[in-house]
Amino acid sequence: MSKTIIIFFGPPGSGKGTQAEMLAKKTEWKKISTGDLFRAEIADRTKLGKLADKYLKVGKLVPDKVILTLVEQGLKQKTSGFIFDGFPRNRRQLNDLLTIFKKALKKNDRVYALEVAVSDKEVKQRLGQRRVCACGKVYHLVYNPPINQGVCDICGGKLFTRNDDKVKVIIYRLKIYRKVGEPILNYWQKFGKLIKINGEQPISKIHNDIMEKLKQLKHDYH
Ligand SMILES: [Zn+2]
Repeated sequence: MSKTIIIFFGPPGSGKGTQAEMLAKKTEWKKISTGDLFRAEIADRTKLGKLADKYLKVGKLVPDKVILTLVEQGLKQKTSGFIFDGFPRNRRQLNDLLTIFKKALKKNDRVYALEVAVSDKEVKQRLGQRRVCACGKVYHLVYNPPINQGVCDICGGKLFTRNDDKVKVIIYRLKIYRKVGEPILNYWQKFGKLIKINGEQPISKIHNDIMEKLKQLKHDYH
């Protein structure tokens, strides 16, 4: 059985995390987000989890080598597909990932990058509309509002605006994404492996577009 691997990209506020989650639910493919993997390893008190925890506790970035070991382990799960969210973040991580793919993937497996494309102007508008809950759930006042205003649907907690959402920080994160993320997208584009989705649409429409594109994919992993 061949596997499909979809690597999500998108500027901050593009809703790519939500889309990755929806795709995972629909397809039952395994999501590989380094944050989730870390939390699982830490909860299971594995050697790797303890190591990652040491870095996270003091607020340090977890070294690439630790992340890569986690990703490599994640790829061993039994499934017909994987969804990457938030990794690789830069060209070096991309190269490392390609090395892992070479070892872990079979000839018929397919890898695609998927960009939830949103303009800079739209990102700036959107993030001001973002509200988060302490439980981790993210809302958008226009695209994805909570059922009751100001209250989390899941845990009933009070919603707040995250510090990240301050304009200066948004602009900085956006700049980094354009500078560091786009060369990675260009890499996939060069091989005809980039799926571009219009992210300036309602969440359900974006999801449908993604499902449509995936149906059209051919078995042509190089
Ligand atoms: Zn909540």
